[in-house]
Amino acid sequence: MTAYPNLFAPIDLGPLRLPNRIVMGSMHTGLEETGGWDRVAAFYTERAHGGAAFIITGGMAPNREGGVFPGAAGLFTEADIAGHRRVTGAVQAEGGRIAMQILHAGRYAYGKACVAPSALKAPIAPFMPQALDEGGIEKQIADIATAAARARQAGYDGVEVMGSEGYLLNQFLAPRTNRRDDAWGGDAERRMRLPVEVVRRVRAAIGPDMLLIYRISLIDLVPDGQSWSEIVALAHRIEAAGADVLNSGIGWHEARVPTIATSVPRAGFAWVTKKLMGRVGLPLIACNRINTPEVAEAVLAEGCADMVSMARPFLADSDFVAKARAGRSGEITPCIACNQACLDHTFAGKVASCLVNPRAGHETELNYTPAGTPRRIAVVGAGPGGMMAAIVAARRGHDVTLLERAAHPGGQLDMARRIPGKEEFAGLMDWFEGELARAGVTLRTNTAPDVAMLAGFDDVVIATGVRARDPALPGQDGAQVLGYTDVLRAGAPVGARVAIIGAGGIGFDVATFLAQDGPSATLDAAAWRREWGVTDPETASAGLAPEGPAPAPPARAITLMQRRADKPGRGLGKTTGWIHRIGLRAKGVRMLGGVAYERIAPEGVHILRDGQRELVAAETVVLCTGQEPARDLADALIAAGHAPHVIGGAHIAAELDAKRAIDEGARLAARL
Ligand code: NAP
Ligand code: SF4
Repeated sequence: MTAYPNLFAPIDLGPLRLPNRIVMGSMHTGLEETGGWDRVAAFYTERAHGGAAFIITGGMAPNREGGVFPGAAGLFTEADIAGHRRVTGAVQAEGGRIAMQILHAGRYAYGKACVAPSALKAPIAPFMPQALDEGGIEKQIADIATAAARARQAGYDGVEVMGSEGYLLNQFLAPRTNRRDDAWGGDAERRMRLPVEVVRRVRAAIGPDMLLIYRISLIDLVPDGQSWSEIVALAHRIEAAGADVLNSGIGWHEARVPTIATSVPRAGFAWVTKKLMGRVGLPLIACNRINTPEVAEAVLAEGCADMVSMARPFLADSDFVAKARAGRSGEITPCIACNQACLDHTFAGKVASCLVNPRAGHETELNYTPAGTPRRIAVVGAGPGGMMAAIVAARRGHDVTLLERAAHPGGQLDMARRIPGKEEFAGLMDWFEGELARAGVTLRTNTAPDVAMLAGFDDVVIATGVRARDPALPGQDGAQVLGYTDVLRAGAPVGARVAIIGAGGIGFDVATFLAQDGPSATLDAAAWRREWGVTDPETASAGLAPEGPAPAPPARAITLMQRRADKPGRGLGKTTGWIHRIGLRAKGVRMLGGVAYERIAPEGVHILRDGQRELVAAETVVLCTGQEPARDLADALIAAGHAPHVIGGAHIAAELDAKRAIDEGARLAARL
């Protein structure tokens, strides 16, 4: 008897019979673009092997002008089709089913040749699109239908037509981007014509016996988006045009509302899919921030959808489904929705991977094979890098002891989990602790080893992390001056006015922590919707509350400062930095760049900015001025003639994050 009866109930989806209600949703991996089809096949096959019964690929471009970026993958040549056939064959050999998503980016395409219903530049794209003429529209439809036919040739079980997230089809649907007054725009009926025609032609191209999914934008979250009645009408038209299933799309990429970031409540948009349940004859798929079997089961049990789609959780753990089915949900490596190694990589033109699972996207190259000769290995420091190194080494058969100075493992994760909006880090810590035990690692806390203690080990891994950089500012010894660990870890009392020196990731985290009054909105979906101005799309067009965002008042008056002249927060994650900046602005946090610190005094921080002297009045000053390697032990070992392996922040502190620490830990342990 499964703990998730709804999740593991079979379902008929168009021509397919699926054993469970889980969709591995579309995500761009960048693997197809490498041309390494063994790599692509290994990525998907590993997930099918882990129980993912139904997979949707990343978006494939139907033509060059519709590619998200120059060189975006598609089925353009016989060689492309042959490559895809290797993927579909391998997935199907594992008993899995796989559909190909067709994505025409419209004005989001990164290139001068981009096209759209109207010549209106997207706020997040640098290129002005060309408005399509009648011939151009026919070409786009024909290219999408051709891509679908080629997907069939390549052995796919289905296709998903991407109609949401602000891409081409969505651009035709919304008055925001469709300013035409012809057969393809002018009123709701004509704005719908292109997506409906696309579905009709795709159905004709693939025949009646292949699955056709349409991803429908249920809540645009941008001004001048679609009304709810238009969305319901569209759903009916799409059904009549030949789709088998509707997948949910939530928000455009240019929306100023987070939709998948870690600060979004779990299953925070399933209620929108629920609004359409029973209004159409097609099964519905819910998505966004569903990351555990428990959350997925609840979405189904509450009648929000017929199926759930999860994408990033399958980067974090390829065995998600198998572990859930076996009742080993606690063993699933959790996706913390950080975007750091997946979406941020994609935007940087790199292959997507995963912060908590560095093997994701690297299945052919990073493998944890049994060690030839088991050795005794000491890992010093139980932060993310040290824990990962210990787990991988132990899984490979080594005898591993993990030594940690603090009373608990976790390192910097233990601070991250306390930040409002970063609650997912708590689950990651739990997983690490459980995994250490399951892998058979001997954990010794409250232990700070010296050179002599480590003498008996065959290998020593130093993962002692970082210590706060001393900025040597005049007046920093005052009792009102705290380090970030005093605030985040020790819970030191903080006054009503705070000056934060240093506006990197930690400065932003400390500001978020100190601005929050009461429970985190991430744990209260209604509060979160108020905070971001999200409401029922039936009462307000596109789901944007007419009154706008209504954030809870801040707990303190905060000033966040840096010496660099650019805007604070520039160096934060590409896909999440804007959320942190908007979040702090909403809490009234004053963010200052180009600051020279003159001295810290009981009344606050005396600064020089734009040639003017200023007092940033504050009862408390928090130093968030970066980090330096904590490598005393490593240096002592080297001086004593040993050759320790130094990883993570102890190796290089600059730009250290959990992603690099975990990756270095895993890769080292794979070699030991
Ligand atoms: P960081 O990103 O290097 O930022 C350090 C800050 O201190 C900068 O604002 C720097 O700006 C300032 N600073 C450096 N030396 C200084 C000095 N001598 N005197 C005064 N100010 C000084 O380091 P962090 O904030 O500790 O973050 C560490 C790592 O964790 C980063 O790699 C970050 O990506 C990651 N992290 C990210 C997030 C997130 O994305 N939300 C959250 C937490 C941590 P100026 O030099 O311009 O003054
Ligand atoms: Fe999830 Fe972060 Fe991994 Fe992306 S990098 S899959 S968001 S844990």
